[in-house]
Amino acid sequence: MWSRVFRPVSATPRILMRMASSAGNGKLAGKVALVTASTEGIGYAIARRLGQDGAKVMVSSRKQANVDAAVKQLQAENLSVAGITCHVGKPQDRTKLIEETVKTFGGIDILVSNAAVNPIYGPIMETSPEAWDKIFDINVKATFFLCKETLPYIKERGKGSIVIISSIAGYVPMKMLGVYAISKTSLLGMSKAMASELAADNVRINVVCPGLIKTKFSQALWQTEAVLERALEGIPLGRTGETEDCSGIVSFLVSDDASYITGESVLVTGGRSARL
Ligand code: NAP
Repeated sequence: MWSRVFRPVSATPRILMRMASSAGNGKLAGKVALVTASTEGIGYAIARRLGQDGAKVMVSSRKQANVDAAVKQLQAENLSVAGITCHVGKPQDRTKLIEETVKTFGGIDILVSNAAVNPIYGPIMETSPEAWDKIFDINVKATFFLCKETLPYIKERGKGSIVIISSIAGYVPMKMLGVYAISKTSLLGMSKAMASELAADNVRINVVCPGLIKTKFSQALWQTEAVLERALEGIPLGRTGETEDCSGIVSFLVSDDASYITGESVLVTGGRSARL
């Protein structure tokens, strides 16, 4: 049985949670996962899947209303989740997210860094310094610092795993999304650079590169029939991806089934190829 404990820990941040009365079953039982930008889209599907596979999950995003709604939905599925607001670009929010996860669930084993922005659509040569800063602050620097700040807690557990959400654009730059693509390429480099250092601490880090997944973020690429048709021509499986197409692979990568995999990246693109 589940005990219904909806516990506002403090006015700000507000934490909603329900604890399972017994540990979850599944390959991630006993693990604690922190997933950024997880109240919608790919992050939400990942949080849900990690919960279904037995992890206790801290969901987060910028807006309290979104956090409340996501936690409520996941709790309705009897998953062990809590939620807190976190804008990943704000150091104090990241600290609060990490500290509350440890306070609520007793530690951190898994980090999924999923948040990203793309404030511009246009020729790369017209990118303003402000747009460069915003894209790199959120997509790259915040990812690095989240890893760095979470690492001491993961190390305390003796082993752990990090997954960064990049994009096929990190391998194959997309027209009009040039700097976003560069930021996603940087994440591939970041994971390679970090993998060997983290290995000494028994921490693995891997990257998932989605193709066209049907979310708000990508709606400009699938909402209009003509644009969608053109996009589908380049996808061998002939369909857009669903958010759930990205969640099983993350659950695998953070599990012991992937204990010999680190510094790797996986394309989830319906067959769009980016490399041999
Ligand atoms: P989405 O459906 O638009 O979801 C965005 C989520 O991010 C929301 O929960 C939003 O909630 C949160 N968010 C936005 N800015 C944030 C910030 N600064 N800090 C914390 N949370 C923030 O997006 P998505 O398509 O799932 O994208 C997720 C990841 O997949 C991104 O890294 C994206 O680059 C990557 N990706 C997506 C596709 C695709 O086709 N969809 C393809 C390749 C890669 P709030 O508004 O409450 O903050």
